[in-house]
Amino acid sequence: MRALVERLASEHRLSKRDLVSLLSSCDEPTLDLLRDKATRTAHKQFGFGIYLRGLIEISNYCKNDCLYCGLRRSNRNAERYRLSDKQILECCQIGYNLGLRTFVLQGGEDSSLSDQRLESLIGEIHSRYPDAAITLSLGERPLESLQRLRQAGASRYLLRHEAADAQLYAAIHPAEMSHASRLQTINELMQLGFQTGVGMMIGVPMQSIESIAEDLLYIERTKPQMVGIGPFIPHHDTPFKDYPAGDLRLTLMAIAITRLLLPKALIPATTALATLSKEGVKKGILSGANVVMPNLSPAGIRAKYAIYDNKASREGQSAEGIEILSEELKSIGYHIDFSKGDF
Ligand code: SAM
Ligand code: SF4
Repeated sequence: MRALVERLASEHRLSKRDLVSLLSSCDEPTLDLLRDKATRTAHKQFGFGIYLRGLIEISNYCKNDCLYCGLRRSNRNAERYRLSDKQILECCQIGYNLGLRTFVLQGGEDSSLSDQRLESLIGEIHSRYPDAAITLSLGERPLESLQRLRQAGASRYLLRHEAADAQLYAAIHPAEMSHASRLQTINELMQLGFQTGVGMMIGVPMQSIESIAEDLLYIERTKPQMVGIGPFIPHHDTPFKDYPAGDLRLTLMAIAITRLLLPKALIPATTALATLSKEGVKKGILSGANVVMPNLSPAGIRAKYAIYDNKASREGQSAEGIEILSEELKSIGYHIDFSKGDF
């Protein structure tokens, strides 16, 4: 196993067979070696700085029905909300004053998020904060729409591929959602020049070790600028409510392998990881992650953006929140890097 880790660290690739063996029989010393190689690789690229992305959860309306997500349209118990442009701009202002230089507008696939509305909102954020980056995470949109948003000033887009294995994708989504269309949209984002983020959950129902290996091969082949990997966590109002959460060790392994496959990628220590484990953010960073996403959403709506149960939220609206994060990072030898952090 150690030889596989050494090879992965020097060649930045592994075959599917080798990925499956590494993921399935990684003992403690091998995992330690893997994480050590991953953090060293991240240090070479980024030093000990961790980039911040201010997350603004702009709407929890969604027309989709992903079987794993608490925002799915069939969840009648979800209390729905939409932030107004004014509220979103206030969140940006608070984040900007605290030093954040990336705003991530995330939400369900909500029909109120028309191209026109987003163009004007992006334009406004761009003109108020020309030195900040605007990231969108609003699901699949037609090519012309993405083109308009890119032109308006959004430069990054997060759209997880969710599963490279088509059978797994079909098992965790309703029939009307298409795997081909998901992958096509990711290609379009890349062609439009968006810094693009893909990713998947670890431990989503029906996922096998082979599917995770497929995900890692997809990531290696596609070479996205960002990769979000977090554990699946059940939500009580979804068809997957009785399934267990994803495994912490396996999630850290997937993050570390991703760092070695793509040394320059921006990899967040995700909120789901922080929800699964109290020390999730530190563990993610000590597995090669280099991004944290403090929450800039107004406190009153955060509980409503319930993708899964007991979602952790890293305070991004107050200087104390940033200070706590800074101390946490300091305790493991890292610091906040307040720069925009482009790929
Ligand atoms: N609607 C957009 C989309 O699907 O791309 C953006 C928001 S969506 C809530 C963001 C991500 O949350 C998804 O890509 C998915 O991987 C993750 N997610 C959804 N349900 C989850 C769950 N139960 N556990 C962990 N992550 C989950
Ligand atoms: Fe909607 Fe995204 Fe949740 Fe799917 S994962 S139901 S698209 S918010």
